[in-house]
Amino acid sequence: MQKIVGVMLPLPLNNVFDYMAPDTIKIGDIVRVSFGKKIEIGVVWCFKKTADIDEKKIKPVINVFPYCLKPELIKFVEWVARYNLAPVGLVLKMVLCAKNAFDDEKMHILYKLTGKTLAEAKLKNSDARWHVIDLLKHGPYSKSEIMAGAGVSASVINTLIDAGILTAFDTPSFKPTQTFDFNKGKISLNDEQQAAADFLIAHQNIGFNVTLLDGVTGSGKTEVYLESAVHALKQGHQVLILVPEISLTTQWLERFEKRFGVKPYQWHSAMLASQRRDTWRDVVKNRAKVLVGARSALFLPYADLGLIVVDESHDQTFKQEDMVNYQARDMAVLRAKCENIPIVLSTATPDLETIVNVEEGKYQTVFLTSRFADAKMPDIKIIDLKKDKPQKGSWGASWLAPTLVQALDANIKNGEQSMLFLNRRGYAPLMICRDCGERLQCPNCTAWLTEHRGQKKLICHHCGYTMSTPNVCPACGSADGLCACGPGVERIAEEVKFRFPLAKTEIISSDTAGSFKAISEVISKMQNRQIDILIGTQILAKGHHFPMLTLVGIVDADLGLMGSDLRAQEQTFQLLSQVCGRAGRGDKSGTVYLQTMYPDNAVLNAIVKQDRNAFLAQEKKTRQMLCLPPYGKLAAVIVTSEREDYAQKAAFFLAKNAPHGDGINLMGPAPAPIYMLRGKFRYRLLLKTLKTINIQNAVKNWLSNIDFPSNIKVEVDIDPYSFM
Ligand code: ADP
Ligand code: ZN
Ligand code: ZN
Repeated sequence: MQKIVGVMLPLPLNNVFDYMAPDTIKIGDIVRVSFGKKIEIGVVWCFKKTADIDEKKIKPVINVFPYCLKPELIKFVEWVARYNLAPVGLVLKMVLCAKNAFDDEKMHILYKLTGKTLAEAKLKNSDARWHVIDLLKHGPYSKSEIMAGAGVSASVINTLIDAGILTAFDTPSFKPTQTFDFNKGKISLNDEQQAAADFLIAHQNIGFNVTLLDGVTGSGKTEVYLESAVHALKQGHQVLILVPEISLTTQWLERFEKRFGVKPYQWHSAMLASQRRDTWRDVVKNRAKVLVGARSALFLPYADLGLIVVDESHDQTFKQEDMVNYQARDMAVLRAKCENIPIVLSTATPDLETIVNVEEGKYQTVFLTSRFADAKMPDIKIIDLKKDKPQKGSWGASWLAPTLVQALDANIKNGEQSMLFLNRRGYAPLMICRDCGERLQCPNCTAWLTEHRGQKKLICHHCGYTMSTPNVCPACGSADGLCACGPGVERIAEEVKFRFPLAKTEIISSDTAGSFKAISEVISKMQNRQIDILIGTQILAKGHHFPMLTLVGIVDADLGLMGSDLRAQEQTFQLLSQVCGRAGRGDKSGTVYLQTMYPDNAVLNAIVKQDRNAFLAQEKKTRQMLCLPPYGKLAAVIVTSEREDYAQKAAFFLAKNAPHGDGINLMGPAPAPIYMLRGKFRYRLLLKTLKTINIQNAVKNWLSNIDFPSNIKVEVDIDPYSFM
């Protein structure tokens, strides 16, 4: 008997397609089908009583793979699609993200003894033959394992097979389940940590619930959530730990290994296809027990997920703006809800959304109020750049105020480590011609080119456009007019080298060659005290633990504050607080200097006083007044086209047909701040509604009535973070 099934394909579509499948087919089965001229891999989404097309024309599925998605995961895919107004097929694509994972796992040929003796087989005794026989008394092995284990050649084994002493059999390639030594690196928690761990564990067998693990940097949040992971693991469940992509360094992995004697599984963008395939299978077969991953790990087909932890849950990189726009922290809560399991959000600087959820009783909180082992919070001081002016030197302009320079000097003399933070890659964010005023711009984007002096290149940080640094001004031909404007981390490193020629310095940013591995290397160098001054971008802010770091200089504390983004203040507060949190995590206390042109700025002063509540109160008031998230809802609609007039017309057309009424407000259309991006013109519209209005439905109704030609693209970003 055959059955008609609706198959969801990993394409930007919401509807299923009809196929014929064997009667044994189940919802969630992964199938291969022909679709148009192509072969696609999809998932059985529903059974159909009647087909959408003539039944005789329905094609059969080509084959059914031995993997089936659980109903919880299918529900999750549909919810993510609905919430973010993304096509279901594209969300499904994130689940089916491992190439070649769906075939049956390779069979493996092993050999065992038949019981026939050498004498019975009329073979002579030899050491080699006896070694093989002895080895196989301990269990079946593959040919290569026998060769290695018994130290014999393949011909010895072949002779024994031919003589009927060994026999071959097939077995699925054997992969053991990840096992843990729970006591290996077990540390005794202090009272506060123990209370927090007990709280998490007490909330573990009651189904879905959300806990904010709110603790200052260095208070032992990681130790605490690992305890609750132990609890889930002991019950046989899987644990997912979501981390901001870049903090997934060997440092974290080594710490985990020290604790449990085994490495966790990983999931991130730099994995090889074969690693993805193996990990995907180990996750679905419940062999992978703990997986640490970047946001896309949320879409893996866990067989028995028991706990989700979102580490550094405030981190803005959890918001994905690519293919499907989603906020991974929120989607993690959604996944936990679908799976009916607990979730822990761990951070020192919770975002306002999370705080409001706590206040409304949707999330519960546990606090860790002090740094472990009496490590003190650092002393934070403001440097007013208008008074304490950086002094030029033989190398040219300076970015470090005399006070900071002195502090660095003293710290080097004391043999302690320092860190300079500037959230800007490259050497200089802009090149300008002093003779004609020309600013070098990306040909594809409304953006300046960043100078990367080490590589002698100018690079666009939006589209990746790269050119060699010109010798003369491209506009006026002046040979000595071009000069770098403003600092990036490379330029700070240059100044440091001039000022402290003997100090060991190192730069770390996402440009750091080879990224993942290179970044891990710099971090271990820093841990081993092979670096005096580490200079870097926001990569430095994340979770690293450097006990001998006692001085942090924030080169430009104003950088993030000037943004027009809704969350600019909040993100600056979080980022700078995290950076400050790097200092003085060991026995010695730390000092932080914030360089600013605006010493009275409220956000900076909240950081100095480490008064999170003052900051949050202020931020709340503003957002409440303007009805911004989490007190209202936002949806951005971005219209792009290669033709400027098309983009503009489409944007105005959308505005004319926008939803309206009580509690709904449209802003725009306006040319986007980055008007041209990757060669396409961009307009933005922003819909703002009351919290009580279903903004997804409003946007859906709005856009579903409009059909633009294919050279106009309309993208939706529910609760946008970036407004560029
Ligand atoms: P957080 O995640 O809150 O920043 P961590 O969990 O990284 O803090 O802890 C900071 C440091 O203190 C780590 O090196 C950790 O191993 C250590 N630590 C925390 N709690 C304890 C404890 N109870 N016993 C021993 N070391 C601890
Ligand atoms: Zn010029
Ligand atoms: Zn560009």
